[in-house]
Amino acid sequence: MIKEMRKSFYIPLIDSYKGNSVIKYINKLEQTQWISREEIKDLQEKKLRILIQHAYQNVPYYHIIFRKNGLKPEDIKTAEDLGKIPILTREELRNNFNDLIARNISPKKRVLSSTGGSTGEPVKFYLPKDGGLAWGAFWRALVWYGIERGDKFAQIWSHSHSHAIKTNFYKKIGEFLRGYIFLSAFDMSEKKLKYFANTLIKFKPKYLDSYPSAAYILAKYVKKKGFNIKLKSVITTAEKLYDYQRQTIEEAFGCKVFEYYGCGECLSMAYECPEHKDLHITSEKVIIETLKKEISALPGEMGSVVVTDLDNYVMPFIRYENGDMATISDEFCDCGRELPLMKSVEGRITDVIVKSDGFISSPIVTTIFKNLPIQQYQVIQEEKKHLVIKIIKDVKYSQKDTDFILKKMNNYLDKDVEINIDFTDNILNTKAGKQRVVISKVPFEI
Ligand SMILES: [Zn+2]
Repeated sequence: MIKEMRKSFYIPLIDSYKGNSVIKYINKLEQTQWISREEIKDLQEKKLRILIQHAYQNVPYYHIIFRKNGLKPEDIKTAEDLGKIPILTREELRNNFNDLIARNISPKKRVLSSTGGSTGEPVKFYLPKDGGLAWGAFWRALVWYGIERGDKFAQIWSHSHSHAIKTNFYKKIGEFLRGYIFLSAFDMSEKKLKYFANTLIKFKPKYLDSYPSAAYILAKYVKKKGFNIKLKSVITTAEKLYDYQRQTIEEAFGCKVFEYYGCGECLSMAYECPEHKDLHITSEKVIIETLKKEISALPGEMGSVVVTDLDNYVMPFIRYENGDMATISDEFCDCGRELPLMKSVEGRITDVIVKSDGFISSPIVTTIFKNLPIQQYQVIQEEKKHLVIKIIKDVKYSQKDTDFILKKMNNYLDKDVEINIDFTDNILNTKAGKQRVVISKVPFEI
């Protein structure tokens, strides 16, 4: 009864308030998930040509880039033609922020967003207010996982909006109406894990949405203490999901785990299907290329992710290098969907800061740094009570920002941790060419 109310009244109300047409998009995407790979390519290229025209005419950055490279919009007709356009890096996004905004779209149609990045380079950007196909794609995948709109869910996350809600009363009402319970990944001490387990037993969510590291720690605790918590599915994102984590989570909650992939700038991009082969790319919304030394990686070869978002007209991301490393496959999935496949995102290394009574996941750390004038950062836990934060400053960086970082970090860390800030102009990459946000030299066990 409550679920029906949620599904037919409250959720559509929220959608229309936010300007989202989620239901319309789900219906569309449920059809396109069954079209052939050739038809998918046609659909993408049709959208690509419109986006390129728009970017050339209305976005100063692209107009200049096209002129500089002797390109006309007509030169970009296919996904292969995209290679003619230079890559947009995070640094270029930061340096050309204003010139990347479309001049012909009302500011009311955009929302400012930011990310600390999985590579430790914070950026700000605009997204269309109507999330477009992103939410539709998310819900298409939830249907694959046996979830319906209106089903209750729990989230172990670092959502800033949940923290922004001042009173417990309004938070509780919001959670009740949405059929949702928020569990903060900021604190996962043993005491909190007990609270999480009891909350899940009481609330009875259908699924759990979490960082893999957080779901894994909770799963280990649930198994160790013998709690009986049964879920329909667990979905994970934002970090690499390791096989050992998947196995423990599946055993603890008696259900399958599904991984999904996205980034703050282009939102949801790929979802594991019930075959658990790889992740199907949301090709109706994005074109994902992988590059190895600036040329296209072969199928099955790992490369840096370069994404073109076919839906963002307010600040177009065309050939945007988001800092992740992935492998695209040319194989087909047994589920019958021909949406192209990508392997689990390798570049996202799961690192946690170890505390005396728990840990802090790396996505939590990125939320602290996301709005700061910093080109790059990295947090290194040298010893249990000693942290070094490496920072490459932007020109606007000041003492105020250092104070902010120390205050935030101290909020989450043990009391007597020594933090050294090291301003540098170089942060080393890992072997995979990937920057790690957090490196901990302290072993972690629960
Ligand atoms: Zn499949």
